[in-house]
Amino acid sequence: MITADLHVHSEFSSDGKAAMEDVIEQGIKLGLKTICFTDHIDYDYPSIYNYTFELKTDDYLKKLEIMKERYKSRIEILTGIELGIQPHIIDRLDALVSKYPFDFIIGSVHVVDNMDPYFKEYWENRTEEDGILRCFKAVKESCENFQEFHVCGHIDYIIRYAPSTKTSYKEYSYSYYKDVLDEILRTVIKHQKGIEVNTSGYKYGLGHPHPKTEIIKRYKELGGEVITIGSDAHKPEHLCYDFDKAESLLKECGFNYYTIFRDGKPVMIKL
Ligand SMILES: [Zn+2]
Ligand SMILES: [Zn+2]
Repeated sequence: MITADLHVHSEFSSDGKAAMEDVIEQGIKLGLKTICFTDHIDYDYPSIYNYTFELKTDDYLKKLEIMKERYKSRIEILTGIELGIQPHIIDRLDALVSKYPFDFIIGSVHVVDNMDPYFKEYWENRTEEDGILRCFKAVKESCENFQEFHVCGHIDYIIRYAPSTKTSYKEYSYSYYKDVLDEILRTVIKHQKGIEVNTSGYKYGLGHPHPKTEIIKRYKELGGEVITIGSDAHKPEHLCYDFDKAESLLKECGFNYYTIFRDGKPVMIKL
């Protein structure tokens, strides 16, 4: 059984409402030994969307200290962050990471060319394939140009928002995007980072986590060893979402271990 959920949001993320206490209580109920909060920081998120993902980091860390103390005999709570990477904010991200002692950092791409693919204008005036490819290229560039993270977050989450997925999802072709996907994986491995298996893909009805199975297998084939597992829950009921499926899938892909990060250092746990 997978006993660590390493991608969890609380009310400190502007798209989350859950109190940390409720998420932690749910984690204890589900038998988790470790939970890592990874609330969002997305500097310079496009203002047209009327959202801001600028975490109140000091308050967040203070609250986590209180939670760690309160629950220390029942569950391990880790301090994480999900950083939204864009090329022009890398200095700000470097400064943030050097200022705070995070256990675990997920590097994610949520904004491509100043647009969030969640919104429809990203998909206007280009083919679906071009929209997907552009996002994969942005993930590749972010892994090349920024190293202050431990795992590359939800590599193929762009698929969720592709127009055809919204009507009926047909698995996208790994081979069509193979060149750029392989470059992402090779870059991650070269810089001694990992990838996450993000089970929200199951929740979105895709039938696979992010990234899809072929990419996880390919990561293994290329020599990748570091895999964290996260639900990306924004509500307590989504914690550990389909972790049993993720466990079988990882074994099927040849992995015997998954990883958690304490104080930025990987710890391997047997599957
Ligand atoms: Zn994300
Ligand atoms: Zn997330």
